[in-house]
Amino acid sequence: MNIQSKPAAGQIMEAKGIFVDNKWHANETGGTVDVYAPATGAVVARIAAGSAGDVDRAYKAARRAFEEGAWGRLTAVERGRLLLKLSRAIEDHADELTALEALDCGKPLKQARADIVACARYFEFYGGAADKVHGDTIPFLNGYLALTERVPHGVTGQIIPWNYPAQMFGRTLGPALAVGNATVMKPAEDACLTPLRLAELAAEVGFPEGAINIVPGTGEEAGAALTAHRGFDFLSFTGSPEVGTMVQIAAAKNHIGCTLELGGKSPQVVFADVDLDAALPSLVNAIVQNAGQTCSAGSRLLVEKSGYDRIVGAVAERFAKLTAGTPDMDLDLGPVINPGQKRRVERFCGNAGNDGIEVIAEGSIADGVPEGGYYVAPKMFGQVPRDNALALDEVFGPVLSVIPFEDEADGVALANGTDYGLVAGVWTQNANRATRVARKVRAGQVYVNAYGAGGGIELPFGGMKKSGHGREKGFEALKDLSVVKTIVVKHD
Ligand code: NAD
Repeated sequence: MNIQSKPAAGQIMEAKGIFVDNKWHANETGGTVDVYAPATGAVVARIAAGSAGDVDRAYKAARRAFEEGAWGRLTAVERGRLLLKLSRAIEDHADELTALEALDCGKPLKQARADIVACARYFEFYGGAADKVHGDTIPFLNGYLALTERVPHGVTGQIIPWNYPAQMFGRTLGPALAVGNATVMKPAEDACLTPLRLAELAAEVGFPEGAINIVPGTGEEAGAALTAHRGFDFLSFTGSPEVGTMVQIAAAKNHIGCTLELGGKSPQVVFADVDLDAALPSLVNAIVQNAGQTCSAGSRLLVEKSGYDRIVGAVAERFAKLTAGTPDMDLDLGPVINPGQKRRVERFCGNAGNDGIEVIAEGSIADGVPEGGYYVAPKMFGQVPRDNALALDEVFGPVLSVIPFEDEADGVALANGTDYGLVAGVWTQNANRATRVARKVRAGQVYVNAYGAGGGIELPFGGMKKSGHGREKGFEALKDLSVVKTIVVKHD
């Protein structure tokens, strides 16, 4: 059976191998990895367990495409047109891709659909940008013309996580391809069915051989082989800080650059003068979207003491109505990705309970969800001590930590009081204060009276501090995925 549509109950989508030079090839060992549907706990697919040999084969195809193949000869406008064609193909296959993403990740259908729309939008944005990446001329000595051009790195390796496979496909490949790199992607073993299908669509719309190659498999084998391979010119990684460290070490050993997007503990700083009715949907959705498995989840609700009871009471009331269910139920959230992630969330909550931290609101799990699914009820903890793990560490689940602060200076200090710095929200009707706080918070993105957990293809996105480095999205991604070359011409 093809990895093309939602399987009937009990059916398993069989592995098609590795995607290299626009075709499926059996993987070197023939080994497979089972893929479980988070909503049911049932095996729904088997993917190839890519090995070092498979990574090398994909790398060589990408290198050929870049150095001597049709891909390397395309002009920027031709690359842009291909990206736009892929964007339209994704829109045309939106129903199929939505069903696949929902099955693979357990997301509510509306979230899965939003992710497919975003994936198409990445290719639209970067398709339009491809022929607008240019260098400068530089005033220099008499008798010289000095200029810069932005050139692709060459072959880039992309390692992506399981939380937003379709979006990550667009987010990392869109800019990499727009500037002319040839690519090898290692998607996450827990959820990679849409990237596999999207690669097929790219071939169908005419991407030349070797531009996009996909090696599925485990992180320990395929992922580690990709980072250790000596041929790549640049790596993009999104995932856990622990693996991010390994990726950076591997990149350093090969003397290449990398971008790391490693998650966060993003604060929503809420002042007593907040327009609460306007803020409430964002304050809740920012942590519950994708069952809290979003790197930019608004997982810390920091509330000014003078408004604490009123604000926290209103958030708690809304939070308590949240319900987790299957993708088809299309409720507020789905299950988490796997049993390990469920245990991780339960461990954080259990430890918080042992530390005497009170649950002030708890959502529910819908009646009738399959027994084997990985469901957790959303939980909101009040008065979380500032030095507790729940205030400092990324849970990656639907768990909101509420912490009071005294005044503006204290709010800023608290917002900046973790190792992370990915996204922040500031909620106040005082424009001067909003601006001051937005500028003092150490985060790659700060929203004022708004919050974009994962949104905004046009907006540069990435971390400060231990949230990582480099920028994805927007025009900034094109800079990270290319290098400046200076050319100096002496003339009479
Ligand atoms: P992970 O870092 O293990 O996996 C991310 C990607 O890296 C996957 O494709 C994986 O196969 C690959 N990988 C794993 N080990 C590797 C290795 N040694 N070398 C190269 N690649 C390797 O993340 P996870 O286990 O899926 O999730 C663990 C935690 O990471 C989560 O609880 C969460 O806190 C965090 N996380 C963050 C993000 C994010 O968007 N920032 C996404 C997913 C997970």
